[in-house]
This record gives sequence, C-alpha cells and structure tokens, in this order.
Amino acid sequence: METKICIKCSIEQDISEYAKRKSHNGCFYVRNKCRLCTNNEVNIRSVLYFQKNKDIIVQRRRPYSKKYLKSYQANAKRDLTDIYIKKLLTYNGVLLVKDLTPQLIELKRKELTLKRKLK
Ligand SMILES: [Zn+2]
Repeated sequence: METKICIKCSIEQDISEYAKRKSHNGCFYVRNKCRLCTNNEVNIRSVLYFQKNKDIIVQRRRPYSKKYLKSYQANAKRDLTDIYIKKLLTYNGVLLVKDLTPQLIELKRKELTLKRKLK
C-alpha cells in the first residue's frame, strides 16, 4: 500500500485519499494535498468569493429564479401536480402536510378538474 503525507494537514494517508491530476505531458501525478484539504480549500475560497461579490451574484441570480418560479408555478397549476394540490389543501392551516393522504389529494384534483370544466 502506497502512502503519502499531505502538505497541509501532515497526516500520512493512503494514496487513494489524494486526487490525481494530469500534467502537461500527459502523465498523471498525485496532488500534494489530500482530498479533504483540497475540498476545504475550495469551499473556503467559494465562500470568500461569494461574500466579496454578493451583490453581483444575487443580482445576476434574481431575474432567472423569478422567471423560473413563475413558469414553475404556472405549470404546477395547469398540470395540478401533487405539490400544488398539497399547497392548496394546507393553505388555510386546517390540514397539515402529514394529514394528507394520496386519496385526499386525488379527490382535490378531481374537484379542481370538475370546477375547471364547469367554468
Ligand atoms: Zn490533508
């Protein structure tokens, strides 16, 4: 079993705990930091990046998510999805999500379908 010492945490671990990378000449080499240290570094870096550029990222994200949410809600209403019906049934707080049975959802779906046909 081949082992290697991580340059970050100084723990000797099996070689499989290190990610392999392809070098410019096509050979593979094993990284100097173990997977855990590499992941932690990436996470910290992305958190720092988000904190630094929060305004831009949130601004960039908002129109997409709003647009997506609208079309998602419209589709859910049109197709009478389980989630949409569950939301309707629990809306006034009389019923809880855990009280809902598949039969109840199906019944509500039939009611809505009937109402739409009568319109
Ligand atoms: Zn490490």
